[in-house]
Formats: sequence, structure tokens, C-alpha cells
Amino acid sequence: MKPLLTILLTFILSGACIFQDYKVQRENMVSQQIEARGIDHKATLAAMRKVERHLFVPPEVRKFSYDDTALPIGLGQTISQPFIVATMTQLLNPQPSDRVLEIGTGSGYQAAVLAGIVKEVYTIEIVTELGERSKELLERQGYRNVKVIIGDGYKGLKEKAPFDGIIVTAAPEEIPPPLIEQLKEGGRMVIPVGAPRAVQTLMLVEKRKGKIVKKHVTEVRFVPFTREKQ
Ligand code: SAH
Repeated sequence: MKPLLTILLTFILSGACIFQDYKVQRENMVSQQIEARGIDHKATLAAMRKVERHLFVPPEVRKFSYDDTALPIGLGQTISQPFIVATMTQLLNPQPSDRVLEIGTGSGYQAAVLAGIVKEVYTIEIVTELGERSKELLERQGYRNVKVIIGDGYKGLKEKAPFDGIIVTAAPEEIPPPLIEQLKEGGRMVIPVGAPRAVQTLMLVEKRKGKIVKKHVTEVRFVPFTREKQ
């Protein structure tokens, strides 16, 4: 009985340690990789301190969850580098009453970060298996204000438009016109634009009095924006 109790206790304690360890790593990630590089949007920082990034990556790369890098999530896709998630979220300037559209659910991590800030998140994923996996993961973690839709995000989500913010996490060669249409007056879109497997430009697109104002922000590297077989 006694050895069994010891084994059980060790098991529980090591589990608690790993949990604690991830919490420390997450705090370090936010302070050293994100705040230290100038991100100061309070809601973004708070959300990234809270969302458990290690639950959004496959077990084989879990120990790198809080590293300063993108990671593979299977099916040829990646979860973005934490600093890029923070940069894009800050640029979007999300507000508590906002409805936001994300194109490229991937792991569901960016959607979870946004869910902690805004009222509603709609996120579209073109790879069925990834979309289903992330939908289940987000539900299991209790994110009730995220809706995962499987389909081609090029078309946006007309029935829920217009959106206060649109965030695109795969890189098209041109900004899809339906997404510009579905942006609310005064709304913001954050999108990487450029050729596949090249360096792309992260752009901030604003709709002001019906006019489209585009700003180049920085260079990034994202997975390609794909299209449904026509
Ligand atoms: N935001 C994600 C990053 C995922 S990588 C995260 O936090 O993990 C980009 C994702 O965009 C991939 O999963 C890819 O399958 C998806 N994607 C590419 N083209 C798409 C399209 N046309 N519509 C919807 N999703 C697309």
C-alpha cells in the first residue's frame, strides 16, 4: 500500500510541477519576448498571460510551447511565433464589444487569445481535420464565444458581416476583396500579403469613411493562403 501511495503522490506532485513550470514559462514568454520588444496593449498582454499555449500544440513539440518560435501543428501547418500573435493582436486593437473574423484557425491559439478580449470570434479553417480538432479543443477549454467554421476564408463570412476586425493568419498574394467588403466602417484588418514561401508584408488595412487606407507594418513569413478546389 505504502509504495503505491508514494507513486501516486509523486505522480500528482510532478503533474503540479509541470503545470507550475508552464505558468512560469508563459510569464517569461510575455515579459521577455513580447513586452521587452515594445508590445504594450494591455488586453493583448493579459490574454497571452492567460491562454495555455501548451494545450494548442502537439505533444511532440509541447516542451517548446513558450519558445520564441513558430511550431509545427501537423498537416503542414504552424502555430505562429508568440511575438507575431502579439503584434497582430495589438495592431487589430480589439475592444470588448467587438466581433472579429479570423481566417486560418490552425491550432486555435490566436482565436483563444482574441476570445479573451472581444465579444465574439468567428474563425475559418480550410483544412477540415485541423478545423475539427481546434473546434473540439476550444470547446473543451470552455471558450464559448468562438465559432469555428470549416471552409475557404477567401469568401469571408457574409452572414455575420460586417466585422469590427479581421485577422488573416495565412498569406494571400492579394487582399481578398470580400474581406475588405466585410470590414465595418472604422474597422481594421491585419493581414500578411505576398508570394508563397517568400518574405511577406504584414499590412494594416483600415476602412475610413468608405476609403481603404493600407499601411505596411513589417516583414513576416506565413504559410500560404490556399483555395478550395474549384
Ligand atoms: N492562427 C493560427 C495560425 C495557423 S497557420 C494559430 O493560431 O495557430 C494558418 C492556417 O490558415 C492554416 O491552418 C491553414 O490551413 C489555414 N488556411 C490557409 N488558407 C486558408 C483559407 N483560404 N481559408 C481558411 N483557412 C486557410
